[in-house]
Amino acid sequence: MAVNITLTMIKPEAVGKNYVGPILNMINEAGFKIAAMKLTKLSTRQAEAFYAVHSDRPFYTDLVEFMSSGPIVTAILEKENAVADFRKLIGATNPANAEKGTIRKLYAESLQKNAVHGSDSDENAQVEADFFFAKSDRVDYM
Ligand code: ADP
Ligand code: MG
Repeated sequence: MAVNITLTMIKPEAVGKNYVGPILNMINEAGFKIAAMKLTKLSTRQAEAFYAVHSDRPFYTDLVEFMSSGPIVTAILEKENAVADFRKLIGATNPANAEKGTIRKLYAESLQKNAVHGSDSDENAQVEADFFFAKSDRVDYM
């Protein structure tokens, strides 16, 4: 299977609780390679744009406020089957339903403050990677 990418964000509450190290460790242990990474902070407008697909949902306004409330760490991750394997590593959106040993089970605090983002398709992974990174930010391991 071809190597592909996913885009993650370590969300503001997890950065605030100093979970960046433990979460990155789990990501590396699971076989993902970091192709690009940065600490940044989303403006309200950037958070609105990133989550535009959810703009009709009742949780959208709160989500935008939360995601722009503090620094995040975002990264492009490379692995075979990256999108599905990363969704498996992070666990269900609601940490109450996340499997034992997943990042969200271990580090999430609530349905909204659920520690990490992971892309939901190869197409969105590419769109989200381009949202945060220029081609020149990205290391090529191949
Ligand atoms: P995922 O991040 O697992 O792909 P979604 O794309 O459905 O989940 O939702 C994006 C983010 O919005 C979630 O990670 C979570 O932070 C927040 N969210 C989703 N559903 C709810 C909800 N019902 N109430 C509050 N926040 C939610
Ligand atoms: Mg999603």
